[in-house]
Amino acid sequence: MSKFRPKTPVEIQAMREGGKILAETLLWLKEEKVVSGMSTQDIDSYTREFFKKKGVEPVFLGYYGFTGVICTSINDAVIHGVPNDKTIIQEGDIVSLDCGLKHKGMIVDSALTFGVGEIPEPTRLLLERTQKSLYKAIKALKNGATTGDLGYAVENYIDQFGYGIIRDYAGHGVGHSLHEDPTIPNYGAKGKGDTFITGMTIAIEPMITLGSEDVYIDADDEWTVYTDDGSLSAHFEHTVLVTENGAEILTQL
Ligand code: MG
Ligand code: MG
Repeated sequence: MSKFRPKTPVEIQAMREGGKILAETLLWLKEEKVVSGMSTQDIDSYTREFFKKKGVEPVFLGYYGFTGVICTSINDAVIHGVPNDKTIIQEGDIVSLDCGLKHKGMIVDSALTFGVGEIPEPTRLLLERTQKSLYKAIKALKNGATTGDLGYAVENYIDQFGYGIIRDYAGHGVGHSLHEDPTIPNYGAKGKGDTFITGMTIAIEPMITLGSEDVYIDADDEWTVYTDDGSLSAHFEHTVLVTENGAEILTQL
């Protein structure tokens, strides 16, 4: 008997629907809304507007006192950037957007990173490879796979580039709550850790840097996680459903 409870077909369908809305939100922000000169508060406002239109509930707002509906992490900010009117997006920045919503009682969680305007080739590669590492982990997922299998998939792919893999934060189960068991690190050994079963829903989210894997939390906002050495950081996340022979990505169009 697994210690994890699979979601019911009705719960999964709600997450599938919510996941599409979240994918739509993030792509709309990326493709149409985020431009240089705007503040991260503007991104938050657009997200609120979009959620209202779609009739879905933000889940980051109020989470341990978080004041935004979306995390906006720029350049060396890895995750948990708090939207504010002083942080202005500049040409050449890389912007990580991480967002969650509740639809028909079920929560989904997703993130992406993109460049604003032209970005240097090494930065573009960091983004591309971080996203690819997420897909490597998704490919390793199926009924009977372990958290270690997923961590290994990310680490084994990323190591060749000499990038930093953030170890202080990890993926997680998701659905009834934003963060459920198990914790899913972005490093590990094949066959180790907790075993996934069909019907589980999890968020996989590699956070990769051009330099150090060490981070600190901003002393003023007490949220934003920065790389110690100021190196750029990328973050991609999908909520996925574990199936008998693989996985279904829920947070895509
Ligand atoms: Mg997230
Ligand atoms: Mg997450």
